[in-house]
Amino acid sequence: MNDQGFRIEHRYLELPDSFYTRVQPTPLSGARLVTFNHELANQMGFHTNDTEQWAGVGAGKELLEGMDPVAMKYTGHQFGVYNPELGDGRGLLLWETIGPDGQRWDWHLKGAGTTPYSRFGDGRAVLRSTIREYLCSEAMYHLGIPTTRALFMVSARDPVRRESIETAASLMRVAQSHIRFGHFEFAAHHEGPEAVTTLIEHVIALHFPHLIGLPDDERHSRWFEEVVEGTARLIADWQAVGFCHGVMNSDNMSIIGDTFDYGPYAFLDDFDAGYICNHTDQGGRYAYNRQPQVGFTNCQYLASALLPVMDEDAVRRGLRRYETAYNERFLQNMRDKLGIAEPDDSDLGLIMDTFSMLHEHRVDYTLFFRGLSNLYNRGHGPVRDLFVDRSVADDWLSRYEQRLKQESRAHDEREYAMRRVNPKYILRNYLAQQVIQEAQNGDYQPLEELLSVLKHPFDEQAGAEAFAAPPPDWGKHLNISCSS
Ligand code: AMP
Ligand code: MG
Repeated sequence: MNDQGFRIEHRYLELPDSFYTRVQPTPLSGARLVTFNHELANQMGFHTNDTEQWAGVGAGKELLEGMDPVAMKYTGHQFGVYNPELGDGRGLLLWETIGPDGQRWDWHLKGAGTTPYSRFGDGRAVLRSTIREYLCSEAMYHLGIPTTRALFMVSARDPVRRESIETAASLMRVAQSHIRFGHFEFAAHHEGPEAVTTLIEHVIALHFPHLIGLPDDERHSRWFEEVVEGTARLIADWQAVGFCHGVMNSDNMSIIGDTFDYGPYAFLDDFDAGYICNHTDQGGRYAYNRQPQVGFTNCQYLASALLPVMDEDAVRRGLRRYETAYNERFLQNMRDKLGIAEPDDSDLGLIMDTFSMLHEHRVDYTLFFRGLSNLYNRGHGPVRDLFVDRSVADDWLSRYEQRLKQESRAHDEREYAMRRVNPKYILRNYLAQQVIQEAQNGDYQPLEELLSVLKHPFDEQAGAEAFAAPPPDWGKHLNISCSS
């Protein structure tokens, strides 16, 4: 450890050269720090009062001693079509640090300029999409859902052309790993079996250390099972909180099961099972209710990449874990949301009927479950008021209360537990849109306020009622551009 409390490593650079290209950032001009995550920096072992130093790093003007930036090479399936030309087209892995708690962090500067994998892109990220990624990764983290994190972001003077001219920005994204399913697809389809094995061992050594020491076959098959299960559980968490990712390409799937690459994502407002948050996804391939299946398809892409070095039966066995892991986690999540602690065979039926009802009546997903978490505390009113047809709510509530009679927990105890899993505050698209507009006018204070509310999604926060409101008419079904 040096005196700052972190250690520097470059383990990714131990992989064969074909997995990366060294690239220097292309500096942005007039960079200003937009926001800095002090809490996270402290955890990572960086104690800093001088946040201006970070503006230089974010702008790609300055590298800290020990940084050795590379663009990672990967490929992947985009909307079901294999693309061999992918890789970090605008992001650079700067270094890896190990914090005082032993936690490993990849530092990835997103928006750092072009790389050999930029294809037709300009290597830049815009303020709008950078704020969206920053907000959502922090929101997910505080909801308890695995995700990459945001350390800081800067905005710059450079104009960037998207549908219109926008402001350039960059994000220091940090994560335990930036290795994607697509890294394995690259290794298998372009480099050969040895590269696949090397990559598996690298990932196990860094992120699945409990498997080290098992015999080869078992180590690999257990690892794959864990990757499949981690992916399944992540998606069960998304479904339960009403999160729609929008671009579940296999190059956006983290090998350690983090939510990865925030683009046109959305949290559902009014529940719509077939909700498509990505307006370029005309066929609804990545619609909310298709996410569990897409997660499995992505595991199949990963599986094909492993076949050259793994026994086919072991790969099949690993894939079979998806459905079980997904169903178990999803059922558990939904029981928790409903406050059911003593399982009954009828619960799945109740859960499915609840989803059908929420869909048919377009009920606000978050407010519904938060309302249920205060049923005895505040009465039926807040739940009933979410329905145009109150009798639908009444019928459902009487069935639900009938079910609750089987539970032995005291009402207040159950509702306390429910308020720890049913957030009051989520990152609704219109909330993000508002702070983006303010930031584009140079005012970052509203962004800070929203971030501070999202840090405590389950707590009642005095004076923050407006952040829990359903969207106003202008804020419903916002068409979020996926150009980022
Ligand atoms: P994404 O849709 O953000 O997951 O990106 C898919 C691929 O396109 C990745 O290889 C990105 O690095 C690359 N990419 C996205 N935007 C840009 C850009 N503005 N410049 C260069 N490459 C980009
Ligand atoms: Mg991506």
